[in-house]
Amino acid sequence: MKRNVNLNEITDGRLYGINDMVRAGCSDCAGCSDCCHTVGDSIKLDPYDIYRLTTGLGRSFSELLEQGHIELHMVDGIILPNLSVPEGAGCTFLNADERCSIHPHRPGFCRMFPLGRYYHDHTFSYIFQVHECPMEPKTKVKVEKWLDTPNLQTNQRFINDWHYFLEELSTKLVTESTPETQKQVQMYLLNLFFVTPYDASLDFYPQFYTRLDKIKPLLAV
Ligand code: SF4
Ligand code: SF4
Repeated sequence: MKRNVNLNEITDGRLYGINDMVRAGCSDCAGCSDCCHTVGDSIKLDPYDIYRLTTGLGRSFSELLEQGHIELHMVDGIILPNLSVPEGAGCTFLNADERCSIHPHRPGFCRMFPLGRYYHDHTFSYIFQVHECPMEPKTKVKVEKWLDTPNLQTNQRFINDWHYFLEELSTKLVTESTPETQKQVQMYLLNLFFVTPYDASLDFYPQFYTRLDKIKPLLAV
C-alpha cells in the first residue's frame, strides 16, 4: 500500500537495515495493547502471513474470513486481505488479558511495529515511526532481533519481491486493463496466493515462488 507522507514528520529521520540498532524496544508491551486497538484495516497481510496463520492455527483462509479474523479490501486496484481490528473492541486475536493469543503466528506488520517499511530504489529500508507507540522509555534493539522472523535474509527478499510485483501489477491493471480483466486478475491473485492452501510440511518460500512464476506472465500481456 502506497502512502505519500513526509518522512521527517513521522520518523526519526533515519533509515535502518536489519543489522542496525533502533530505539524501538517497549518492555514487552507490559500492560499495553494500544496498537492492537487502533490500527484499523492497516495491517495488510502478505502470503507469508497467511501461511503462518493457516498452518499455525490449523484454519483455512476461508475459515479465518468467515470467523471475522481477516477481511478483504481493495488496495491500489488489487484485492488483499487485512487483519480485522474493529474500532473499540480491537484485534479479534486479543485474549481476555488484552494479550496477543497468536503471538508465534502473528503477522509481519505486528512483528515490526512501531517500525515501518520505506520502499525506494527497488529495495526497502526500515523506519522508526515516532508517533505510533507511547511506551517510554524505549530500549535499543537490533532490527534483526526485533523482527523475530526465521530465515530473515530469504524473508527480506520475499517481502521485496512481493511488494514490487504488486506495484507493477497494480500499475498495469489500473492503466491498461478493462474492468472485466481487472476483476479476473484480482480473483486469480486472491485464489493463487491466499485461498489455495499452503503445505504446512514444506518451506513457504519455494511454494510462493512457484505461484509467482505462474502469475508473472500476466505482467507481460
Ligand atoms: S503501542 Fe507500543 S507498547 Fe503498546 S502494544 Fe503497541 S507496540 Fe506494544
Ligand atoms: S495479531 Fe496480535 S499483535 Fe497483531 S494486532 Fe492482533 S493481537 Fe495485536
